[in-house]
Amino acid sequence: MERRLITVQGVVQGVGFRPYVHRLAAANGLRGFVRNEQHGVAIDVEGDRTSVDAFCGSLILEAPPLATIAGVRIERAPPRSYSKFRIAPSDAADASPGAASVPADVATCGRCLAELRDPANRRYRHPFISCTDCGPRLTIVRDTPYDRERTAMAPFTMCAACRTEYDNPDDRRFHAETICCWDCGPEVQAVSRDASVLALRGCHAIAAAVETLRNGGIVAVKALGGYHLACDATNASAVERLRALKCRDAKPFAVMVRDVAGADALCSTSVAERAVLEACERPIVLVPRRDAANLAASVAPGQLTLGVMLPATPVHHLLLDGVARPLVMTSGNRRDEPVAIDEGTALSALGAVADLFLVHDRAIITRCDDSVVLVSAGEVRTVRRARGYAPRSIPIARAATRPILAVGGHLKNTVCVVDGARATMSAHVGDLDTIAARDGWRHAVDCLLRATRTRPAAIAHDLHPDYASTGFALSMASELGIETRIAVQHHHAHVASCLAEHGVREPVIGVAFDGAGLGSDGAIWGGEFLLVHGASFTRCGHLSYVPLPGGDAAARRPWRSAAAHLTAARGAASAPPPGVDAAEWNLVTQLLARPERLPQSSSVGRLFDAVASLLDVAHISRFEGEAAMRLESAATGRAPRRYDVTLLDGAPWTVDVAALIRAIDDDCRHGRSTAESAGAFHRALSDVIVLGCKRVRESAAIATVALSGGVFVNRLLLALATQELTAAGFRVLLHAQVPCNDGGVSLGQACVAARAMEDEQCA
Ligand code: ZN
Ligand code: ZN
Ligand code: FE
Repeated sequence: MERRLITVQGVVQGVGFRPYVHRLAAANGLRGFVRNEQHGVAIDVEGDRTSVDAFCGSLILEAPPLATIAGVRIERAPPRSYSKFRIAPSDAADASPGAASVPADVATCGRCLAELRDPANRRYRHPFISCTDCGPRLTIVRDTPYDRERTAMAPFTMCAACRTEYDNPDDRRFHAETICCWDCGPEVQAVSRDASVLALRGCHAIAAAVETLRNGGIVAVKALGGYHLACDATNASAVERLRALKCRDAKPFAVMVRDVAGADALCSTSVAERAVLEACERPIVLVPRRDAANLAASVAPGQLTLGVMLPATPVHHLLLDGVARPLVMTSGNRRDEPVAIDEGTALSALGAVADLFLVHDRAIITRCDDSVVLVSAGEVRTVRRARGYAPRSIPIARAATRPILAVGGHLKNTVCVVDGARATMSAHVGDLDTIAARDGWRHAVDCLLRATRTRPAAIAHDLHPDYASTGFALSMASELGIETRIAVQHHHAHVASCLAEHGVREPVIGVAFDGAGLGSDGAIWGGEFLLVHGASFTRCGHLSYVPLPGGDAAARRPWRSAAAHLTAARGAASAPPPGVDAAEWNLVTQLLARPERLPQSSSVGRLFDAVASLLDVAHISRFEGEAAMRLESAATGRAPRRYDVTLLDGAPWTVDVAALIRAIDDDCRHGRSTAESAGAFHRALSDVIVLGCKRVRESAAIATVALSGGVFVNRLLLALATQELTAAGFRVLLHAQVPCNDGGVSLGQACVAARAMEDEQCA
C-alpha cells in the first residue's frame, strides 16, 4: 500500500482538472480525494505502488487541454485506508496570499454547440450552455478556489437533472461549475430602451433581438465581459446610424460572422488567420478584406483590413444563426468610457443608441473587452489583450523578491501584478482620459489584486508625472502604505515587456518606436535605441529632435507634424495642405517660428504622421494611428531603396531625419508615385533600425535586438526590419502574446521594478 499527497499549481481550476483526476484515479483503481485549494489542486491518493506510480506518471502528460501546470509537488504519507475516490469540498479557509490562477473565458466548445443546435437535447437553444471545457471563467469569478459559490453562478441553484450530471463522473459536465439549463440557469430578457417593457424572455427574447437586427435596428447585447452594440453589417443605414449615435466617425467596426466560411466571404484569410479565428480565445482578427465583400462601406471606411471574429458565447451563436448575416459587434460604451457591464450603466449610457437590450440576470464580475490580434511576420501577435487571454499569466525568468503592482501608461492602459515568478496582466483597460475611465482603472486593479491574492509591496509607474495612472499609483501607494515607488521610463518599459515575453535577462539592444513617452531628459521620446541592462538603460541613439507644437493636438492632426518636420528640414513650411484651415495653419507656423518654446520630440509616430501628410495620404487622424495605417496601406512592399539614411555623431548619436524629410519632399515635387514614396519610407525606417543596431553592436558587442512600441503593429515595417536584422546577423525578439503598443507597458514596468529591487537586495 502506498499513499501520496500531490499539489498541482497553475491554471488548474475551472478547466475540468478535478473531474480529470477523478477519472484517472478510477482508471488506476485508487482511493482518496481531490480538492481545490487556494493555491491550486490537492490530491490525496492511495493504492498499490504500481498503480500510484502510473497515476503520477500520467497526471501531467494527460492533463485537460485548458490546464497549464506551473508546478507539482509529491510527498509520501502513511496510508489511511480510504474506501473510495471522491471530489472533496474546496478548502477556502487558507487566507495566505498567492492563489491558483483564474482561467480565462473559453468560447463555446464544439460539443456544446452541437447540443445547442440539437432539438432533441434538453439544452436546445439554451443561451448559457457550457461544460468543463468551455464557458465563462474570469468574467464570473469572484474569488478562488473556483467553485460555483464563489462565482456569479452562485444564485442559480442546480435543478435535479443538472445535479445528476454534475455528480456523475462519466458525464462531461461532472463538476462543471457553470452547469445550468432551462430550468435552473440564468435567463435572457429583451428590454426596450426605456426599460418599461420587460415582456420577452428566453427564446422569445432572442427572437425579438434577431427580428430587430434583421430590420436594421441596433441591439445592445450583454456578452461575457461587457455589453456589445450590434447591427446588421450589410445594412448601410443601420451601420451609419450606429456610427452617428455612438459619435464614432471613422474608426473601423469589428464584424462577427457565423463561422470560418462567413469570414472567408468577407476576407482572404491565411491558414494561421483561420486557426486563430477558431481558437478558443475567439479574438477579433485583423485580416485583409475582399473588395467584393457584401458589407456596408461604413463598417471600415477606407481600410484594407477588417476586424473579424466568430461567436464566443451561446447568445452570439443564436443571434448569428438567426440573423444569418454578418453583424457589426462593437463595444457597448460611451466614447472614451469603459464598456458597460451592468444593466443600469448600459441603459443610461446606451439608451440613446440601442433600440433593444438583450440582457440577462448573471452578473459580470470582471470587465473584459474583446481581444484583437493580427498575424504578422508569420506569427499571431496581440494588439489588444483581453477576453480569452486575460488573466493568463506570463512566467518571468527570475522570481521577484516582493510582489509588485505596475499601473501602466496613459493610453491603452493595462495593469500588471508580479508575484514570485509569475506576471499577471489585467485585460485591456483603455485610455484614461475620463472620470469613468478612472473608475474602470480602479475596477481592473481591484479585480487583479483579488484574483491573484496579492498585497503589493511596491508600485511601479511611468516617469510622466501627469499621466492619470501615475497619479492613481501615488495616491494608491499612500492609501495602502506602500513606500517603494519606482518610476520607469516609458520606452525602457516597452523593451522590458518584450524581454519578459522571451525570458531574456541579459543586456540587449532595445529599439522602441512609438507615439510618445516622456524621456529622462524631459523631451518627448519615441524613436529610441536603448542598451537595456536590467533595471537600467543607456540611450545610445535616437531620431533627431524636432520641435513639436502640441502633443495630443499633433497626434490628431498629422499636418501639424508635417509643418514641424518641414520647418526643421527646410527652414519653413510652405502653404497649408488641402483641407487644412488657413488660420490654424498660420497659428502653427507662428509657433514653429519660436521653436525654443516647443517640446522636442524624437517620435516615430509623429514622423509617420508627417510623411502621411507630405504624401497627401492623410492630413488628420480621426482615431489614433489612422494616418500611419493609411500610409502603410498606401505603400508597396517592393519599393526601391531610395532614401539614404545617415547617423549624426554624438552622445547619443542621432538619425538625420531632416535629410530624410528633404528627400521625401523632393520626391513629392517631382511627382513620384505615393505608393513608391510610402514604400521607400518604410524601407528607410527599416534601414534606420539596422544601421542603428549595427552602431550599437560595434561598441557594445551585443547582437540581440528587441523591437517594441506601437509603431511595430505596422506589418510592413516589422517584416522588413526583422528580415534585414536577421540577415545582418542579429537575433531578433518580437512581441507575440503581449502587445507591442502601450498595452504591454505595465508588464515592462513590473519587470524593471523587479530588477531594481533585486539589485537593491544585492547591494
Ligand atoms: Zn462545452
Ligand atoms: Zn438545470
Ligand atoms: Fe508607447
